Amino acid sequence: MKVAAVIVGGGSGVRAGGENPKQYQLIGNSIVIYQTLSAFARHPAIALVQPVIGKGHEGLFAAAAGGLDILPPVIGGATRQESCRAGLVALEAHAPTHVLIHDAARPFISAALIDRVITLLSAQDCVLPALLVADTLKRVQDGTVVSTIDRSGMWTVQTPQGFSYPDILAAHRKAARDGKSDFTDDAAVAEYAGLAVALVAGDESNRKLTTSQDIARANRDLVTDDIRIGQGTDVHAFEAGDHVTLCGVPIPHTAQLKGHSDADAAMHALTDAILGAIGEGDIGTHFPPNDPQWKDVASSIFLAKAMALLKAHGGRIGNADLTILSEAPKISSHVPAMKAVLSPLLEIGEDRIAIKATTAETLGFIGRGEGLMATATVLVKLRTAMG
Ligand code: MG
Repeated sequence: MKVAAVIVGGGSGVRAGGENPKQYQLIGNSIVIYQTLSAFARHPAIALVQPVIGKGHEGLFAAAAGGLDILPPVIGGATRQESCRAGLVALEAHAPTHVLIHDAARPFISAALIDRVITLLSAQDCVLPALLVADTLKRVQDGTVVSTIDRSGMWTVQTPQGFSYPDILAAHRKAARDGKSDFTDDAAVAEYAGLAVALVAGDESNRKLTTSQDIARANRDLVTDDIRIGQGTDVHAFEAGDHVTLCGVPIPHTAQLKGHSDADAAMHALTDAILGAIGEGDIGTHFPPNDPQWKDVASSIFLAKAMALLKAHGGRIGNADLTILSEAPKISSHVPAMKAVLSPLLEIGEDRIAIKATTAETLGFIGRGEGLMATATVLVKLRTAMG
């Protein structure tokens, strides 16, 4: 099998609004057609990717598709059917055995669906991904229901539609010869040529972006997809004193924590976890420990800096989970006060903050009471470039 893909992106996409056709609009950080092309270009079973673009979109395409291992684009025709035929004809010199034809405006195509289509193509000449109609269908005229349509046996169809390459090329040529130019999908062209079309399970997420609401929804979905995790660890030694500060709360003790600032190991671990989640170095990157201006400061300024950087990335905290490892002092009775300090700093509810304490079973430097350790894990959600 030598499988090619034709990606049809010739439409002007006027229904989607915006300055550019929908296939050239941004979703998240990525242009729609780039996302679609790259899904096929990186799929191991796809040998060739042939884009079909609209006349006058050459510059947009070059800017969007740079760096992808694909064939040069061909210019589409006045209808979807003509554009598909142009893509199929352009592949003739490469002699593929099979071809998948896919809408550029379906960027959420999964490798699994591509696999399903190709697998069935080894046994069938035409394969169509489809979903059973779940909603009741009505025929409507002038805003009034005329009849209810029996939905049994009704399917909605998607792309990529897979074909034996010689068969679908011949079918398209026959349709063109017969003066037929308004088929809205390639399976209809195959049906017209008398080919049998088999169904394979489609994918709910493989939806077509048609309207500006579709683009907005895709953006929202991607926003919630950009979830990061960060981890931080900090250790401070004990020295002579009468209290330790953890998560901004002073706790009476027979020693204090040694450090340049207030030595709040828990808040330092939390700060490093946030910086880690956004790839912004660590606490020492932003607050060099030998800089006298940080002497004895409250560690909340470190956390505030990490939060400011997080916001600069368009991020917010999902939750924070801290563990303090120490033989003494006992932490648990101070946890409510610690959460009350952290909640406004992290801008999340106390129900999204966990502070746990454990001993080291008398082992090691913690067990001997020489110091304590804190670890923190945070989840952050980033809102990146919006279209
Ligand atoms: Mg520290």
